[in-house]
Amino acid sequence: MKSERDDRVAGTLLAAACGDALGVHYEPSQRGPADGDPQMLGGGYGHYAPGEYSDDTQMAVVIAQVAASGADLRSEDALDRVASGFVQDWFGGGATDVGAQTRALLGRAAARPPVDAASLRSIGADLHRESGRTAGNGSLMRTSPVALAFLGQADAMAEAARAVSALTHHDPVAGEACVLWCLAISHAVLTGSVDLSVGLSRVPESWEDRIREAETRPVSDFAAQSGWVVAALQGAWAAVFGVRDIADPAERLRKGLVAAVNGGGDTDTVAAIAGALLGASCGASAVPAEWRAIVHGWPGLDADGLEALALACRRG
Ligand SMILES: [Mg+2]
Repeated sequence: MKSERDDRVAGTLLAAACGDALGVHYEPSQRGPADGDPQMLGGGYGHYAPGEYSDDTQMAVVIAQVAASGADLRSEDALDRVASGFVQDWFGGGATDVGAQTRALLGRAAARPPVDAASLRSIGADLHRESGRTAGNGSLMRTSPVALAFLGQADAMAEAARAVSALTHHDPVAGEACVLWCLAISHAVLTGSVDLSVGLSRVPESWEDRIREAETRPVSDFAAQSGWVVAALQGAWAAVFGVRDIADPAERLRKGLVAAVNGGGDTDTVAAIAGALLGASCGASAVPAEWRAIVHGWPGLDADGLEALALACRRG
């Protein structure tokens, strides 16, 4: 029997994976099902099996494996291992579908060894100069293991969140979103309650208005721009905030993830982001049994495997 806190640690990665697996079917159409009752049907851009999670959780697993080894995610050695995990293990071996910005970056990195953190950051800076657009949602969607590795250690967590984000996302706004989400996950694991404002003092003031905007508008208002990290965070927060008063954790978690998918846009990613925070507050025990039974994915993890990896991040 896990403690309540361990249940929330375990729920962070498990519920993110469930949101991801719930959303993949609806990503190509950018809209939830007509009946408002999304299912883990698989399909999507990665031709997934029912219950299979996608790049969002796969990349989080790479980070989690490094954290679980005991490495400090702020150190260049650990960041080198995350970089090689992204490029060689995942992009070279397991990636099913890859976001546009991440594909451009990891593709160049794979073609230009050695693969390490410095080379990824250098390629990311090149891409930023060329396109001016490196604030995609791809670092936020995978950030939750950073929170688990530094529970209650806000300074170290914020530093690690920015460093892991910057491996693939040169724009600091992506790192700021990761800082906010990680601090909220940590607060949720430690207290059971959800509050996105706990990290506001560590990011530019503009984030306060973005958060308040998400609290007053439906998830769908952020769908059209949800490839952008700010709108992805706002959509996920709108989904989590909208269910905050539901007392039963299982109902809160399910309705929050359903709202994230039904909001449309980048459905699997918004639901994965929302899922990390919902799982951190509601716990793994709140995940519906029918989701737990079929959720799975690269590199061969099921619900128990995801829970064990999340717990190992914390112990690591
Ligand atoms: Mg995905």
